Amino acid sequence: MSETTHSGRQLRDENVRPPAGEMPGNPPRVAIVTGAARGIGAATARRLAADGMAVGILDLDAGSCAATVAAITDAGGRAIAVGADVSKDDQVEAAVGTVAAELGPPAVLVNNAGVLRDNLLFKMSEDDWDTVLSVHLRGAFLMSRSVQKHMVDQRYGRIVNLSSSSALGNRGQANYSAAKAGLQGLTKTLAIELGPFGITVNAVAPGFIATGMTAATAARLGVTFEDFQATVAAQVPVRRIGEVDDVAYVISFLASEGARYVSGQVIYVAGGPLS
Ligand code: NAP
Repeated sequence: MSETTHSGRQLRDENVRPPAGEMPGNPPRVAIVTGAARGIGAATARRLAADGMAVGILDLDAGSCAATVAAITDAGGRAIAVGADVSKDDQVEAAVGTVAAELGPPAVLVNNAGVLRDNLLFKMSEDDWDTVLSVHLRGAFLMSRSVQKHMVDQRYGRIVNLSSSSALGNRGQANYSAAKAGLQGLTKTLAIELGPFGITVNAVAPGFIATGMTAATAARLGVTFEDFQATVAAQVPVRRIGEVDDVAYVISFLASEGARYVSGQVIYVAGGPLS
């Protein structure tokens, strides 16, 4: 049986209505995590591998992915390192092709690669603006556009974009907050466009997570990372700063079979509510 969408497209029944009965398991899938050499991306890659996925570990320099790949393969999983700048179309196409050839067609994409170029508006250069928008927003666009071909063929896909609590506004981050708010709009639009093909698209928006990125912010502000973390933790309802695995677990859920009816959502992972 099939159903017809408002646009007249014929849909296979299983894409419209989940099969009745037990919760789905997680059959072997191929995932790509960008910016996975370190931080949240590395934790996410390890988590998805533990979930049974083969993982393409993508970062600017393939050599920097070695530790993440080793952590996965040493635990009995499958992973390969892929070097690419997500803001460059030719490198994105080559990287996705490499993963598809070596691991199989990707069904999960986590757009995690990111950079900071913080400054107050009057000191923010065009290069600071362009770099941040290119990596976060153009990178997620290029990666999603490339991977969706494989997902549409499979009539299955999970895209998770890394937004941020900074999407709600943060002093010194005009470029970053604009990119992270843009990612929320991209998430909702891709959820609408790709939903008919069995593809869900969601965003996670972390608050303060202890990584190299937040350590760099502490250094820019001239405070120790320990003092910075203590100051932030005192303002978080659960009274601690976030760990990379706090984010990885949420991404793991959104990347799972069971998250099949959650799409176009932004989940804040911030130890409390944000507004
Ligand atoms: P991180 O430790 O700095 O890791 C980011 C990774 O992305 C690095 O390995 C980096 O490589 C890579 N990367 C940068 N530009 C790239 C490009 N053009 N192409 C491919 N890879 C690139 O950052 P994180 O804290 O784990 O953050 C991960 C994501 O979560 C980011 O999107 C960030 O904005 C978001 N986020 C983080 C926090 C937080 O508190 N940490 C909060 C909210 C959202 P290099 O090191 O070689 O530059």
